[in-house]
Amino acid sequence: MSAQSVANEIDNAEEVRARLYVRGQALIREVNEQIHRLDPEWTSEGGRCSIICECVNSECLAALQIPSQVYAAVRRFPTRFVLAPEHVADAFERVVEDGGNYVVVEKIGAAAGLAVRLDPRRIGAVNDGNRAG
Ligand SMILES: [Zn+2]
Repeated sequence: MSAQSVANEIDNAEEVRARLYVRGQALIREVNEQIHRLDPEWTSEGGRCSIICECVNSECLAALQIPSQVYAAVRRFPTRFVLAPEHVADAFERVVEDGGNYVVVEKIGAAAGLAVRLDPRRIGAVNDGNRAG
């Protein structure tokens, strides 16, 4: 096996891992979005809302209290997720906002494109027309 093909294998493994992670994160994002959609009062409680940690660990169900406006702002970017500060996976995402008890991360590399494709707001926009948010 040549050095080049070994390098490609490593690249592929990283990409597979990145895709697996972002699928898990996109799933949690969808859960958060569903809760948000079913309960319009959700975000009004004292200007804060409770969400499930959107980290790469698909078994993490940590609850985070974040300002409602932060949640709304994050959801305008399909590549961004909200998670507990100690759950950041440096190889796959970078912190763009540190809120103390939570951080906002942006996906980097191969995972970013997939995060966009799996965004329920984009999928929703296709399915049920214009949802002003
Ligand atoms: Zn987590």
